[in-house]
Amino acid sequence: GIVLESLTKCYGPITALDGVDLAVRAGELVTLVGPSGSGKSTILRLIAGLERPDRGRVVVGDRDVVDVPPQQRSVAMVFQDYALYPHLTVQDNLLFGLRVRKVPRAEATRRAREAAERLGIAELLDRHPDEMSGGQRQRVALARALVRDPSVYLLDEPLASLDTQLRTTTRADLLAIHRQLGTTTLHVTHDQAEAMTLGDRVVVIEGGRVRQAGAPQDVYDEPADTFVARFLGSPP
Ligand code: ATP
Ligand code: MG
Repeated sequence: GIVLESLTKCYGPITALDGVDLAVRAGELVTLVGPSGSGKSTILRLIAGLERPDRGRVVVGDRDVVDVPPQQRSVAMVFQDYALYPHLTVQDNLLFGLRVRKVPRAEATRRAREAAERLGIAELLDRHPDEMSGGQRQRVALARALVRDPSVYLLDEPLASLDTQLRTTTRADLLAIHRQLGTTTLHVTHDQAEAMTLGDRVVVIEGGRVRQAGAPQDVYDEPADTFVARFLGSPP
C-alpha cells in the first residue's frame, strides 16, 4: 500500500500541499478527487519520486521512499497526456521500461503481449503513437504501466481526454484489471461521478488539504463541510 504522512510541498510562495495524510491499503482502489489546482498531481509526483516533499513521509510497500530514486520505487504512473515515446512503436514503448530493468527479452515480449491483449491493443503493436487515436494512446499508456508489474499504480486522470463512450468502456476495463489483479491504485480525477463509482474509497482534496476520506456513499451522504457537499453535489 501507500502511506502519506504530513506531506507538504511548496513551489516558491505557493503551498501546493499542506500536511496531507492519506493511505491506500494493498489491493485497494482509491480515487483522489478535487478541483483544478488542488494538489492532486503533486501528490502523485511525490509518490512516484518525480519531486521531493518539503516535509512529511512517503511510504510505498513497507519502505520510506523519500530518498529512493523513482526507478527503484515499484511505482507506475500514467499521465493525462500519455507521455509515450513518439519515435518508438507501441511494442517498444511497452518494452522500454523492462529493458531499463534488464528483464530478459523473451519474458519482456510475453508480458508486453499480455498487457496489450488485456487492453485490446494487440493489433497496434507495430504502430507509432501519432498513428493512433487518443483513446488508443491512453490504452497504450495503461498497458505500459501494467507491463511493469508495479506494486502501486498512480493514474493521473487517465480517462479525461476520452469521449463519453470510450470513457465508460475504459473505466470498466480499469475496474476489471483492478479486480482481477488486485492492484493497489490511486486514481486521480476531477470527475465526481467517476470518483464515486470507481473507488473503494474516495479522498476529497482542496487547497492542498484533505477535506474528507471515506467510502463514496458515506462521503456523499455525510459530507464533512459545505465544500465537499457542493463539490460532490450532495443533497442538502
Ligand atoms: P489539475 O486538476 O488542474 O490537474 P491538480 O489538482 O493536479 O490540478 P497540481 O498540479 O497538483 O494540481 O497543482 C497544485 C498547485 O501547485 C497549483 O496551485 C499549481 O499551480 C501549483 N504547481 C504545481 N506544479 C508547479 C510547479 N512546477 N511550479 C509552480 N507551481 C506549481
Ligand atoms: Mg493535475
